[in-house]
Amino acid sequence: MPLKFTALYIIVVLIVRLKCMQDKNYSEEHLCDVGPLAEEIVSYRDVVQSIIEYTVSGPFKGKTYEELAKFVDKFGARITGSEVLEQSIDYMIELAREESLNDVFTEDVEVPHWVRGEEKITMLKPRVKNIAVLGLGPSVPTPPGGITAEVVVISNFTMLDDTPDEHIRGKIVLYTPTYTTYGETVKYRTQGATKASAKGAIASLVKSITPFSIYSPHTGYQKYGENVTKIPTAAITLEDADLIKRINDRGEKVELHIEMSSTFDKKTSRNTIIDIKGSEHPEKLVIVSGHIDSWDVGEGAMDDGGGLLISLAAPVILKRLNLTPKRTVRSIFWTAEELGLVGAQAYEKAHRNESDNIDFIMESDEGTFRPRGLTVGGTQEARCIVAEVLKLFNSINCSTLVETDSPGSDITVFTKNGIPGAGLLNDNERYFWFHHSEGDTINVENPEDLDLGAAFWAAVAYVIADMSADIPR
Ligand SMILES: [Zn+2]
Repeated sequence: MPLKFTALYIIVVLIVRLKCMQDKNYSEEHLCDVGPLAEEIVSYRDVVQSIIEYTVSGPFKGKTYEELAKFVDKFGARITGSEVLEQSIDYMIELAREESLNDVFTEDVEVPHWVRGEEKITMLKPRVKNIAVLGLGPSVPTPPGGITAEVVVISNFTMLDDTPDEHIRGKIVLYTPTYTTYGETVKYRTQGATKASAKGAIASLVKSITPFSIYSPHTGYQKYGENVTKIPTAAITLEDADLIKRINDRGEKVELHIEMSSTFDKKTSRNTIIDIKGSEHPEKLVIVSGHIDSWDVGEGAMDDGGGLLISLAAPVILKRLNLTPKRTVRSIFWTAEELGLVGAQAYEKAHRNESDNIDFIMESDEGTFRPRGLTVGGTQEARCIVAEVLKLFNSINCSTLVETDSPGSDITVFTKNGIPGAGLLNDNERYFWFHHSEGDTINVENPEDLDLGAAFWAAVAYVIADMSADIPR
């Protein structure tokens, strides 16, 4: 590399390093003073190191990936309400019991059961082309014989509002939003059908909510609003959405034929709960969690097999190392997350009178790539304490604290009520490439990252469950 490029490279690296250091120093940035707790937290350094060594280079090395691979190879996709989901819950309970975890129980939850049938979209005009499709759950089917209609391309909801109803009535709305972040863009999937139906559309399609595609449609949850006709709704690929938009922008009409079938009923599923009972305050809970259900495409290895398996690993590691914290470490495998956080809402309702006992709630549902720290919701006082705990993880580069108002999916059901909580911060830039698509397989996961994630999850839960102070609200 020529000298001037080397110099430029070094400057860039320094800037990036400096940026990272600024991010990490939450305590300094916010002038945190946690008093004598700081010294107490430092005293956990050896036990944290022993958990890390056991998991990353000791007997547990590779175990989380191996168990995840066995799990997804055996069950594949696990959609809410399916028998295979219930079988996978039984399997996880068995794994826990084999590890001598004896406080394992389940709680029944009534869940939606949506089953995708045949789905087919064909572009008829201006030329014939098959369009890859994934219906959004729980979409209604098309009428027998399907729907044939012209497409109206809509870039955003403002454009939809500004379009006269008569230009939309009887047509298929295709949303082609520009992907910014998942959080900002996903509304076109979740609310698109309802808004299009309110203007008289007979079906709605959305450009898949992803920044990247190799011709992959991405499914996901959508919710019909009250008092609108439920219209069939589906995702198509970035490639086809852009194609239709380009043709449309040139003033040519695009006509599609859509056929979708599906069934919908209710079933009983279960949230799974595993406790390492606390030695001094068994009623107080530090919760680690992930969801066991997945979409019906791919294998749900990433969403949320990784989060599920590190949340099993946490109690297993603590049990194997004979570590009993003062508070209970509770691991929860949520059911029916994908169909609207149904399991988490049921748990919150059933345990509302004990909600004061939740000291801290964690969830991993945004990937288990290389872990970096936590995204934390709560008061600044709470974050300052968590930032102090995260300093124990310098050796594995997991000390970053990012502030957020919604640290997870399921756990927002709790954190919105003021319960402090956190999500796993990880190098998940590629997460939405695979999310809710056939691409969500074990090939996305990596053994070393899962080892680090499992070690981090177990050790953070242990320290917070064992230290003298509760996490303030
Ligand atoms: Zn998920």
